[in-house]
Amino acid sequence: MPKSTLIKSRQSAFAAQGGNCNYCGHPMWESQPEKFSQVHGVRLRQVWRFKCTAEHLVPRESGGRDSKDNIVAACAYCNFQRHRARPARDPEAHRAHVQRRLAKGRWHSTTGYILSQT
Ligand SMILES: [Zn+2]
Repeated sequence: MPKSTLIKSRQSAFAAQGGNCNYCGHPMWESQPEKFSQVHGVRLRQVWRFKCTAEHLVPRESGGRDSKDNIVAACAYCNFQRHRARPARDPEAHRAHVQRRLAKGRWHSTTGYILSQT
C-alpha cells in the first residue's frame, strides 16, 4: 500500500483524537517540534516522545493494513514501548498498562520524566 495511505490514516486519526495519544492521552505534534516544546514546556531533548505516529492496531507483521480502521494516532513513546514488549501487547492491554503507569506517575508526561522502564 502506498505510503500516502498511512499518512492520511494517521492524519485523520490525529484529528479524530483531538491531537491526543490513543494510549497516554498526552498532546502530540505532527510538525513543528520546537513550537510544541515551547507551548507545553517539554525539553527539546524529550520532544520526540510526543511525535504523532501511526499505530497499527493489528501489527504489520500480522497482516495489519495501513487503512483508517487499523490506524490510531499514538505518541512515539507509547508506540515504541508497545512494540518493545515481546510479543507486542494488544492495544487494549497496552492502554491499560499505560493508564496504570500514568496513575503511578511512571509514564512520560509533558512535565515529568520516565522513572523506569517496563
Ligand atoms: Zn502516548
